[in-house]
Amino acid sequence: MDMPIIHDNAVDLSVLSGKVIAVIGYGSQGRAQALCLRDSGLNVIIGVRKGPSFDAAVEDGFKTLSVADASKEADIIHILLPDETHGPVYKAEIAPYLTAGKTLSCSHGFNFVFGEIVPPKDVDVIMVAPKSPGTEERKRFVEGFGVPGLIAVKQDYTGKARETALAIAKAEGLTRAGVLECTMEQETYEDLFGEQNVLCGGCVDLMKYGFEVLTEAGYPPEMAYFECIHELKLIVDLIYEGGIQKMNQVISNTAEWGEYINGPRILPIEVKERMKKSLKFIEDGGFAKEWMAEARSGAKNLKAKREALGQHPAEIVGARIRKMFEKK
Ligand code: NDP
Ligand code: MG
Repeated sequence: MDMPIIHDNAVDLSVLSGKVIAVIGYGSQGRAQALCLRDSGLNVIIGVRKGPSFDAAVEDGFKTLSVADASKEADIIHILLPDETHGPVYKAEIAPYLTAGKTLSCSHGFNFVFGEIVPPKDVDVIMVAPKSPGTEERKRFVEGFGVPGLIAVKQDYTGKARETALAIAKAEGLTRAGVLECTMEQETYEDLFGEQNVLCGGCVDLMKYGFEVLTEAGYPPEMAYFECIHELKLIVDLIYEGGIQKMNQVISNTAEWGEYINGPRILPIEVKERMKKSLKFIEDGGFAKEWMAEARSGAKNLKAKREALGQHPAEIVGARIRKMFEKK
């Protein structure tokens, strides 16, 4: 069944008139979303801890407060903190000010779905999720369009939760491109699955293996980098524009034949079986439990993996190559 796509003409901003929206966090998403909401004429304040983000919000001309003070003042509390901090920040600085009829909002359902945040019954709980990094979202908004997005309603106390989510989406330009309505569970599971199996995990390992096999066989790392990492963008751009068939029209027949014949050899059907297991692990909360334990114990493994990646030859040669090809 086709999902209906919601556009600008179906959404009214009036549900937000007179409302104060507190954007909590002023990082990648916080800054982009807050600027778009303000440009759409809404009353936006920022709640964030003291530091570089706080300074950036002040610099951008926002009324900038602590998370607690912003939550106290706001009608709509839109949490855009790193996911692993939502639980503790919510308990200490948001929950005490979450009076009846307020709206609690997010851009990724993780904490509501996995029980890190358990909101009271007398508030609305919604999600407005741009399907894009913050910089791209802001850029497209400034150009007069927008990136696509998802909305979800987890709890509707006022009877206006859906209207509110759609209005926020419109004010961020998302309904210009088109918005899909889903459940927070669908968004959360699907988002984690995609990033772990295809987009980040999956893709990154594929590129690294390709680079390693070529260089270990004696091919120059510069060539391996171009072949297995740099060129991925060209391929993905073609797919983005016109699908896999369009990409196949542009590449050579030789490349297309290689795709059909060797793809299933290096990614055999067992990979799909592993992906199914990965989806189950996400849906039953296993991944969230593991990741929260890691984050709460100081993220030592995360930091070690980050550091190790910096030593990977593909990263070292890549930095050098990208510099060489910069416009002078
Ligand atoms: P960032 O890491 O870019 O920004 C986090 C912000 O929260 C920073 O301003 C940071 O301030 C602040 N912060 C961190 N810890 C605390 C704290 N304890 N108290 C107060 N403020 C704090 O996060 P993102 O923008 O990437 O992600 C925010 C949300 O958006 C997440 O739920 C994410 O899943 C979701 N999302 C992200 C997308 C993306 O592409 N990045 C896409 C769609 C959704 P400081 O500078 O002081 O650290
Ligand atoms: Mg995602």
